[in-house]
Amino acid sequence: MRFDYLQPSTVDECVGLLAKHGKNAKIIAGGTDLMLKARARMISPEYVIDITGIPSLCQIADDGEGGLRIGAASTVRDVSISAAVVEKFPLLATAAGLIGSVGIRNVATIGGNVCYASPSAECAPGLLCLSATARIVGPRGERVVPLSEFFVGPGVSVLEPEELLVDIHVPASKPGTRGVYLKNSPRGSIDLAIVSVATVGTFAEEDGACKEIKVALGAVAATPIRAGNAEKILRGKVLDDSLIASAAQAAADEARPITDVRASAEYRKEMVRVFTQRALRLVRPA
Ligand SMILES: Cc1cc2nc3c(=O)[nH]c(=O)nc-3n(C[C@H](O)[C@H](O)[C@H](O)COP(=O)(O)OP(=O)(O)OC[C@H]3O[C@@H](n4cnc5c(N)ncnc54)[C@H](O)[C@@H]3O)c2cc1C
Repeated sequence: MRFDYLQPSTVDECVGLLAKHGKNAKIIAGGTDLMLKARARMISPEYVIDITGIPSLCQIADDGEGGLRIGAASTVRDVSISAAVVEKFPLLATAAGLIGSVGIRNVATIGGNVCYASPSAECAPGLLCLSATARIVGPRGERVVPLSEFFVGPGVSVLEPEELLVDIHVPASKPGTRGVYLKNSPRGSIDLAIVSVATVGTFAEEDGACKEIKVALGAVAATPIRAGNAEKILRGKVLDDSLIASAAQAAADEARPITDVRASAEYRKEMVRVFTQRALRLVRPA
């Protein structure tokens, strides 16, 4: 494995290198996905562009309106222990803290997790529920893509080869909003999820009815997905056990899993039902 290693110190410099080397270059952040692919000779870039020396990409900053801008090269360890993330979006901190081992989390980045576009990407379901957007720059300028439009298929996103994910914006949640993230991984967090479920709901103070709710699933379709039919069943209602059971079944029906070494499609569907039910019971007000 031979490549030239480039280390830009600004976003502009990085975009210039991407424009110059195009498909011959690959961005590296933590390298926990990229280096495995390179070692397996699934990719053989001539240039590897390390973005971890660009300070602005490593920051988690307040957006001034109660939300956060999370630099793409922020490690998932930093995301999981950031006081701001823990306070504002605890389900995202939980998801980031469930990636691999602490050694992996110390180098793996939130941008790498999203850009690798694995159906089981840990941070994706929570970001979908939180209405996050991705800020992308490339030779033709900047664009902002909702996470709901970011994933195209397994390992494929809307990113062009010469584009860089700069940050992920998570807007402020409304008062009364609560979120939960659950991962089903029989071998613990060192392994990828066979099913993951995120849910974010906003509940009325008077009667606890859910004004808005989002449910997203990981590892059970070609991309992380929203469970829209489950959401419809829940929206505007008080989440009692029977409503939750119906919504969990709807989520299982919406899942389109495959059978692979980790689990069969049938088992994954059943786990979607079980984990959606658990997540909804946890997210509703006591
Ligand atoms: C032992 C082990 C356990 C793991 N466990 C989990 C787990 O439990 N859950 C999970 O979700 N993942 C897991 N992973 C996968 C991986 O660690 C994560 O997906 C991680 O977040 C990837 O981040 P990275 O910075 O290492 O990405 P990299 O490997 O550096 O990059 C991944 C891809 O994204 C591109 N890229 C990176 N940053 C950018 C950017 N800013 N703009 C454009 N393109 C970019 C790269 O070119 C590459 O194609 C595990 C990996 C290992 C080795």
